[in-house]
Amino acid sequence: MQYCTKCVYPISSAVKLTFDNDGVCSGCRVSEARKKINWRKRAKLLESLAEDSRVSNGSNYDCIIPVSGGKDSYFQTHYVTKVLKLKPLLVTYHGNNYLPEGEYNLNRMHHVFNVDHIIFKPNVDVLVKLNRICFKKMGDMNWHAHCGIFTYPVQIAVKFKIKLIVWGEHGYTDLGGMYRADEFPEMTAKYRFEHALRGFDWYDMVGEEGLKEQDLLWAKYPTEEELEESEVRGIYLGNYVDWDANKQYKLMQRLYNWQQSKKPFDRTYRRFSNLDDMHENGVHDYLKFVKFGYGRATDHACKDIRSGYITRKKAIDLVRKYDHVKPRDLKRWLQYVGMKEKEFDKTADQFRDARVWRKNKGKWEKDNIWDEEKN
Ligand SMILES: [Zn+2]
Repeated sequence: MQYCTKCVYPISSAVKLTFDNDGVCSGCRVSEARKKINWRKRAKLLESLAEDSRVSNGSNYDCIIPVSGGKDSYFQTHYVTKVLKLKPLLVTYHGNNYLPEGEYNLNRMHHVFNVDHIIFKPNVDVLVKLNRICFKKMGDMNWHAHCGIFTYPVQIAVKFKIKLIVWGEHGYTDLGGMYRADEFPEMTAKYRFEHALRGFDWYDMVGEEGLKEQDLLWAKYPTEEELEESEVRGIYLGNYVDWDANKQYKLMQRLYNWQQSKKPFDRTYRRFSNLDDMHENGVHDYLKFVKFGYGRATDHACKDIRSGYITRKKAIDLVRKYDHVKPRDLKRWLQYVGMKEKEFDKTADQFRDARVWRKNKGKWEKDNIWDEEKN
């Protein structure tokens, strides 16, 4: 297995990477290029974009901010209301499995920022079915969340005729360097379908476990005509601001008393990410390890190496400590969907990437990044 020589990503990464002649991945190269950006100029660009979006007669919201209540949601809302001085409408897809700290952070946003906030909660019976169906179909029980997060705010934008959506970071660019920093990627139907939704859409779920179109109305992305007519545009704040998760988390804690998880997670060392779903850093992430041979500790360590918080050596120790752990929240998830652990393991094994895993005497084995040191 080839690993990036700067961060700790394997070439089998779920987010597509390319490696250059020095063995450095595209994610690291794009991250290096960001350090040379003139951020003052970018902030000015954003200011003029905000001016164009301002509804001068006050007859509508200026923009939508899709929020989960996380540190990024707070930062986006802070930037939009305090720096750009726009009037946003917050929109949340609520997948029913928030951690208590996540729920606390979410519920106080309308108060903390003095803004209007729509929180959409789908029927729990449908959510449980989607957990089960998508786990079996693609090894990802949280598909419904990716779908809701990338669909519902766009539906609201079209319905309310709000032209601007302010997203946070472009995930695939941040992790894997999908776009160069000067390409200013925006949210598109193609990105939603191919990446966030893994090439599945709401109609693939109809008929499974008795699900009907009417159960999935929130999952239907607006049509091209609707989008064109309403002129909705989804920008990423990460294209205009020198994004640093560690700094932003501390700032949001200081300014707004934003809460991180009180308990540590089983599979990563960071406590300030993914509080909107108790299984996101647990069983959902464990499945990434089963599939691709690495987990969220690797993702977090790569981000922290690139921002200069930890060394690659320290990152390897963290990967070694966390990536393989079978998390304790699995028990709760199995109860939630009514499944036995044996069935879970058997189903999960079907998704193992043959580039990563081999069977030796009945046990799954793979190369590890710390084996590099021996060579
Ligand atoms: Zn790298």
